[in-house]
Amino acid sequence: MSQVLLHVDMSPPLSAPPRPALAVPPRRGNWLVRQPWLLATLWAWPLILSLVFVAGVMAWLVHQEDAERDIVQRTMIADALSLESQISARLEAELVKLRGLADNVAKGGRGTATFYQSPLLLDGLRRLWISVTWLDENGRIVAHAPDDSLPPRHADRSMFDDEGLSGHLSVSLPPTTPGGAQGMMIARFSAAAVLRQKLPWWLASKYDIRIVDVSDEVIAGTTRTPRGEEQLWYRVPMGPALPQAWLELTAQHRVTPWWRTMPMALMAGFLVLVALASAMLRRQMRSVSRAETAWRTEVAWRSAMEDSLAVGIRARDMDGRLVYVNKTMADMVGYQPEELVGLLPPMPYWVADDLDHSMRMHRRNMAGQAPREGYESRWQHRDGHIIDVMVFEAPLVDAKGVQIGWMASVLNITEKKRMEERERRQLETMAHHARLTMIGEVASTLAHELNQPLSAIASYNAGVLNAMQASGTADPHLLKALQRMGEQAGHAGRIVRRIREFLTRHEPQLEPCDLADVIRSGMNLLKRDIARQNVQTEVALDAALPQVRADTVLLEQVVVNLVRNACDALATQPEPRRIRVTANVVSGGRFVRVTVADNGPGLQGRLVDELCAPFFTTKSEGMGMGLAICRSIVELHYGVLDAEASALGGAAFSFSLPVHGAATGSAASQEESA
Ligand code: ADP
Repeated sequence: MSQVLLHVDMSPPLSAPPRPALAVPPRRGNWLVRQPWLLATLWAWPLILSLVFVAGVMAWLVHQEDAERDIVQRTMIADALSLESQISARLEAELVKLRGLADNVAKGGRGTATFYQSPLLLDGLRRLWISVTWLDENGRIVAHAPDDSLPPRHADRSMFDDEGLSGHLSVSLPPTTPGGAQGMMIARFSAAAVLRQKLPWWLASKYDIRIVDVSDEVIAGTTRTPRGEEQLWYRVPMGPALPQAWLELTAQHRVTPWWRTMPMALMAGFLVLVALASAMLRRQMRSVSRAETAWRTEVAWRSAMEDSLAVGIRARDMDGRLVYVNKTMADMVGYQPEELVGLLPPMPYWVADDLDHSMRMHRRNMAGQAPREGYESRWQHRDGHIIDVMVFEAPLVDAKGVQIGWMASVLNITEKKRMEERERRQLETMAHHARLTMIGEVASTLAHELNQPLSAIASYNAGVLNAMQASGTADPHLLKALQRMGEQAGHAGRIVRRIREFLTRHEPQLEPCDLADVIRSGMNLLKRDIARQNVQTEVALDAALPQVRADTVLLEQVVVNLVRNACDALATQPEPRRIRVTANVVSGGRFVRVTVADNGPGLQGRLVDELCAPFFTTKSEGMGMGLAICRSIVELHYGVLDAEASALGGAAFSFSLPVHGAATGSAASQEESA
């Protein structure tokens, strides 16, 4: 058994034959897949969404940076103000001490010795003051410390402490005369020292702190490194002790710009990876799209090819479920392919009266025992008519070589079968005709042979009758019987002669005749049979039956045959057995119809063609030629023989003959041609 390999080739064949332009089957499925623009840009969507995500992260980072700057700025302002107030407080305290020195000098009689020996002066110089100058009312220097007599300044002072501007604290001495000018006591101090002494360690670790003048010159500071561009800083003006000077705090902690943060670096890496992935996806999608288009073209091409086939194709899975049918197969049984696909046995196209047989065949096929050379089956079209098909089954195998079902090609052989049947019938008819011819020959010979003895019987009968009449001794009953015998012999002779003429295709003796006479004569011939079988007969003839042109002997045989058949049919029937013979004018006076009806078993569904077929009989002793000969005789007279159910409950055989002289087109033309 050949196998059908189910192979889905995604790439177009390398040397594909030139193909007709085919419409690519439309995409089915969800809405997304049916939007070509969306499908074409699908690869970019992860990238676009990633960009949106990264933009969101960037916005968040910018916001975070602003918030951080804001916090640092606020803290720095608070710290700057706090430090400035501490320095101011310190300078206030120094001012108080300087005032104390001035008061001591004033109380000590304003002698320079008091000034130089004042513990406040020595303590001040040791603590903070660089120098103290005493000016008199006229602005002249009275005393100035330190001088060489004083100990050197504290050893831990750094070089930086002495650099830059120094601040001045000044207090007035009380005037020597009421209302006179005042002297001044001026202490010079190092701003750097003040800063160093008042600066808490935690503030120094947080900020670079500088005291700057109006021209941005650093007076004192915790570092010599200049301020960076992106560093945050804040200035507050110093108090009156350091006029034209500002305290500047510069945050050591640098707020990292958002674009230099770790999340941003990660995002950049992420974007690069997504871009790479999108590029690869795009490439892959294009290649899939190309393959899909090729595949669709292939499918369309194959579908067109399959649909144009005159052979039906049917695929079933291992359970017998229809998984595919082509259009030809669906049309064959009058369904749409979609109506058939998915169906399990029993199939709708199985013959309804023969489901068991179809199921047996199906099981056999599913078991892999379908004949290799195919098998014939009968299916039923949706509209009810029967179709003959020839089915060739083959295993359906997937790409891995595993059988997944059965594939069948189906040929509609109804017409072929019909032709075969017609041929068979023709052959049969020819055989029947041959037999008929032979029987005709035999009958003709028989008739020929019987003619002589019948003539002899008639002659002898006539001679005996004449002799007996001449002798005058004859019994009148005997004479009557002999007379009847002569009549019957003559009648038999006529029948034999006519049948012989009929069988040897001699022209019938057509002459105007009265059908009523023919019927009565026929009935008369059968009266003994009728009486023996106890059959009630009724003859109802139209009062004014027109004449027909016929051979009375042949027509009489028709009547006799029909009535005898009715008697035969009634033989096995319970009484009352009835036969009714009627004759009336039909078809507007153009035909006369003779009907022989009975209340026998009836036709039992048989049609007139079947009953009139030569040699058709249901009787054990029957020949099956009676009705065939009747039909031939009726048609010889341009009439029609018919059979139907009778109103009496049995069968009704009838024949119609054209009325003599009536213009029946067919009869006239046939007569002409005859
Ligand atoms: P035969 O009488 O030899 O059987 P016929 O051609 O006369 O041959 O009849 C053919 C068949 O037609 C009969 O065998 C019978 O089955 C059927 N037939 C004929 N007349 C009647 C009837 N009146 N009722 C029922 N069946 C009939």
